[in-house]
Amino acid sequence: TGRGTSGFRVMAVSTETTGVVTRMEQLLNMDTTPFTDKIIAEYIWVGGTGIDLRSKSRTISKPVEDPSELPKWNYDGSSTGQAPGEDSEVILYPQAIFKDPFRGGNNILVMCDTYTPAGEPIPTNKRNRAAQVFSDPKVVSQVPWFGIEQEYTLLQRDVNWPLGWPVGGYPGPQGPYYCAVGSDKSFGRDISDAHYKACLYAGINISGTNGEVMPGQWEYQVGPSVGIEAGDHIWISRYILERITEQAGVVLTLDPKPIQGDWNGAGCHTNYSTKSMREDGGFEVIKKAILNLSLRHDLHISAYGEGNERRLTGLHETASIDNFSWGVANRGCSIRVGRDTEAKGKGYLEDRRPASNMDPYVVTALLAETTILWEPTLEAEVLAAKKLALKV
Ligand code: ADP
Ligand code: MN
Ligand code: MN
Ligand code: MN
Repeated sequence: TGRGTSGFRVMAVSTETTGVVTRMEQLLNMDTTPFTDKIIAEYIWVGGTGIDLRSKSRTISKPVEDPSELPKWNYDGSSTGQAPGEDSEVILYPQAIFKDPFRGGNNILVMCDTYTPAGEPIPTNKRNRAAQVFSDPKVVSQVPWFGIEQEYTLLQRDVNWPLGWPVGGYPGPQGPYYCAVGSDKSFGRDISDAHYKACLYAGINISGTNGEVMPGQWEYQVGPSVGIEAGDHIWISRYILERITEQAGVVLTLDPKPIQGDWNGAGCHTNYSTKSMREDGGFEVIKKAILNLSLRHDLHISAYGEGNERRLTGLHETASIDNFSWGVANRGCSIRVGRDTEAKGKGYLEDRRPASNMDPYVVTALLAETTILWEPTLEAEVLAAKKLALKV
């Protein structure tokens, strides 16, 4: 008897119950490693809206350790809004691999970016540009760290109304829900927790989770991660979250302000530091970075997510989208510096502007570019320093 067939038959007939679900679960959970070297690789990429994720599977002849061992692949870009029908092929380049928490075994998730057949990055490929920034020797020597706080909102399917909210109505006002416990205050914990473990299993540098201020809204943090890894890990963590919510029959939204009115929006605070910021005297480097950021506020805002103007109102722990501001321990500022960083004279800054639907490749690369590679003119610098009451 062949290895594959006997193994399969044993799993299929030895089951006590004959329920379809049980047999299906057994197949889904089946460990294929005793029977074949082959693995399944799930190739994942960012689709045409710049926020949708797409993926498809293929068999690889044996387990792999590094994305360079994987073949390039292609897909129909005319079906994802990424290529015209008459020349529809988009090429996938494997860039980072993770263990697959859904299939287990040696199966993997593969973060890819997207190219034309001639090898040009397509317009929605934001990773390529980010990889360039993060391989610049000046940036490399500053070992940029990012800690990203991904907020998200869970919706009841069909009605598209937050989880735990009465359909056609509203829950009691915000206050009791943040970091809450109890069936009248916390909605969707199993999803948050399943996602946490799945991310750890996959090898994502997830650092924590919490329930958010708006009921049905959650957060997890990824980092600190170095350079391009921050973007790869956030995108794969979002993919895993889409898969888990799919299983749960719940809709994931990364809209920055899912419910208008007196309800918190959803952001993606990006905590950031360079080597010089983490060393003695780092607070001065942080202040200089804040000065640079103030001069490029509009550019950053334009790259920080669609619909962010509905969120950055100056209310609900945000700063107004029109004005750049910074402060120590102030959650109503564009940039917050922690008490700890002020006290130690070194540490990191928190950019509170990015929306939950931001592209982490864009945001991390722009932060590095503005604070490490870009220099304002002397006049602009003097003016900005005065305006922000910063001595640089
Ligand atoms: P908040 O108080 O704003 O809710 P969180 O605890 O949710 O902050 O997230 C802070 C994030 O900052 C974490 O992901 C953490 O790993 C990250 N972080 C900590 N130190 C640094 C640093 N020096 N540089 C960049 N990120 C950091
Ligand atoms: Mn947080
Ligand atoms: Mn939060
Ligand atoms: Mn924060």
